[in-house]
Amino acid sequence: MKTRIALLREMGLPRPYTQSRPLKIVEAELDEPGPGEMLVKLAAAGLCHSDLSTINADRPRTMPMAIGHEASGIVEKLGPGAARFAPGDHVVMVFVPSCGHCVPCAEGRPALCEPGAAANGAGTLLSGDRRIESGGETVNHHLGVSAFSDRVVVSQNSCVKIDKDIPLDRAALLGCAVLTGVGAVLNSGELRPGQDVAIIGLGGVGLAGLLGAVAGGARRIVAVDLAKDKRDFALELGATHAIDPTEDGAVETVKEWTDGGVDLAVELAGAVPALKFAYTITRRGGTTVTAGLPHPDAELSFAPVSLTAEERVLKGSYVGSCVPVRDIPRYAAMMMDGRLPIEKLMTHTIALEDINEGFERLAAGEAIRQVVVFD
Ligand SMILES: [Zn+2]
Ligand SMILES: [Zn+2]
Repeated sequence: MKTRIALLREMGLPRPYTQSRPLKIVEAELDEPGPGEMLVKLAAAGLCHSDLSTINADRPRTMPMAIGHEASGIVEKLGPGAARFAPGDHVVMVFVPSCGHCVPCAEGRPALCEPGAAANGAGTLLSGDRRIESGGETVNHHLGVSAFSDRVVVSQNSCVKIDKDIPLDRAALLGCAVLTGVGAVLNSGELRPGQDVAIIGLGGVGLAGLLGAVAGGARRIVAVDLAKDKRDFALELGATHAIDPTEDGAVETVKEWTDGGVDLAVELAGAVPALKFAYTITRRGGTTVTAGLPHPDAELSFAPVSLTAEERVLKGSYVGSCVPVRDIPRYAAMMMDGRLPIEKLMTHTIALEDINEGFERLAAGEAIRQVVVFD
């Protein structure tokens, strides 16, 4: 089976990407789906900051790789034993496959699946196999998805079925931005109605988290980002306050707005100063969630006595502590009835050929969520 893929051969090429063109759209050959795998025709794929982190080498991965990890599609063909799906099913892909049998999976924490993490680290499907070849060489899969492709072979454990009345373009965002952002607030942060929340980092994932805080009944929602246009957009989406964390007295200002600090601060910026700010504006007894992905060498220092004396919680959140088969249909239903207006985050629709232009726009901070729509 022939397909086109977005092939990344070399990380860390210089910007602008419109000139260095790190992604090449090339023809590739897909193997038949193996046991528990299926062939999926892509409908839409979102451009996410973690794709950019692979392109710019902040999160190095094994090259060459067919990248992209946030997608929706339609099942075309089942491999042996892919019994949970049928051809024609609409699916959202999840960028951590879950085996269902390891300790985290058994404990109801499939986002931490151990074979899933190992496969993602190796650039294979959950089976340990690679199913893409291009120009005579084997190509690595990106997080079991490789979304910027016309067709992909994926593990059925990387997919969740959705209703056919859900528009597939915005459904793609359920797989990363929504699962990660909304989940960080509602699952990891355990937001309760009436609590004060801060969202630190207002990219696609952060703004999805903000929509989650609105839907979850937060009282005051403080939007934090260095960029004024992002803060303004957050105010349109339901934030009650917005602040530049580098402005003089920013911590005191947030504490004033929220009578001593927020109950829940969720950091989605992936930078240590952002996490420090999030921790500092959290009230006594409050929770700070970090769902950003800072550079592996980054370190955080703070006075741990506050954890004890103020009963503070500092908590990590991966893929929004999700249970995909539970959360994706739930968020999809909230999207369809208008309580999670995800479509507001979709700033651009682009063709696969224009993907380098898309990543340059993302790197320049000129887009929230851009979606590649396939024919
Ligand atoms: Zn992502
Ligand atoms: Zn598992």
